[in-house]
Amino acid sequence: MDRKTVELIVPSFNEEACVGLFYDAVRDLFADQLKAYDFRLIYVDDGSSDGTLEKIKQIVAAAPEGQVHYISFSRNLGKEAAIYAGLEHSTGDYVAVMDADLQHPPALLIDMLHAIVDEGYDSCGARREDRKGEGAIKRVFSVAYYQIVNRMTVVELTPGSTDFRLMTRQMVDEVLKLTERERFTKGIFSWVGFKTKWIPYHNVERAAGKSKWSIRGLLHYAASGLLSFARAPLRFAIYLGGLGLLAAGIDLIVLIVQCCLWSELPDAVSVVIVLILLFGGMTVMLLGLVGEYLARILAEAKQRPLYIIRESNYGESDRKAG
Ligand code: UDP
Ligand code: MG
Repeated sequence: MDRKTVELIVPSFNEEACVGLFYDAVRDLFADQLKAYDFRLIYVDDGSSDGTLEKIKQIVAAAPEGQVHYISFSRNLGKEAAIYAGLEHSTGDYVAVMDADLQHPPALLIDMLHAIVDEGYDSCGARREDRKGEGAIKRVFSVAYYQIVNRMTVVELTPGSTDFRLMTRQMVDEVLKLTERERFTKGIFSWVGFKTKWIPYHNVERAAGKSKWSIRGLLHYAASGLLSFARAPLRFAIYLGGLGLLAAGIDLIVLIVQCCLWSELPDAVSVVIVLILLFGGMTVMLLGLVGEYLARILAEAKQRPLYIIRESNYGESDRKAG
């Protein structure tokens, strides 16, 4: 039986204290419990300003030939870009995305491989069961955020889901077909479908260094998730405008009835209110209409695949015929 290769993609931004620890942990795991597999590492240095790249080069030199690769960005381009670069360069049979700080316990790979190899899943992700060591505010926002995304978008985000995920080669190839610039990887993984199993685990403190997330970065990340997959914010304008027009219509009828039945001339204030509602409603509604076109242009510009095939017997009959 030929040995399968597990490839780990590690986005690293100013992680000089962690990259070495990460390699050691993974090497020990594959020397012991995961002996049946070969492993490869792709460090993606996301424009670090500390000694991360030097540390990675040392690891490359010490590791067996071809086991550790690295890609170093010209500047800090963000974790999403790092993940894409890593996936694009990957060739392994199974590919995982993991943080460098050991907050994604390598030991989970054992269960993940079991889920994919033996249970027939296409992907297996890690889900944090608790958020120990995280502020109450961040926790509340996170819970609310997942609910909003799940209600407003076509993608389903599992609460507590992390970017730590092992995938089959087939799924990675499909993920790479989504070439949009503004990437929200969590949503993309969900969008491509396939069978995913979630493994719960307890939150782990980072091994060294500190978190790279700022409040601003998190807000941007949250907005990106919503805007990449939801049309609801654009539709909102149509509904709001419609509401304004409805109010204007009702108001107008009231005025006309007043005029005809009691031959009262409407007072200036009522007329102004009707006009404001009328033009305001019209403007907002037309904006919504423009937004709807924008949404369509956005969808076309992303050029996402129209369908993704998990299996079919087309390849087989072609091979027989050939
Ligand atoms: N990271 C990255 N580019 C960035 C920010 C973070 O590649 O601009 C990497 C970082 O090195 C780490 C992973 O993404 O391997 C997760 O970052 P971090 O641990 O700071 O996030 P947290 O665990 O606090 O959510
Ligand atoms: Mg971390």
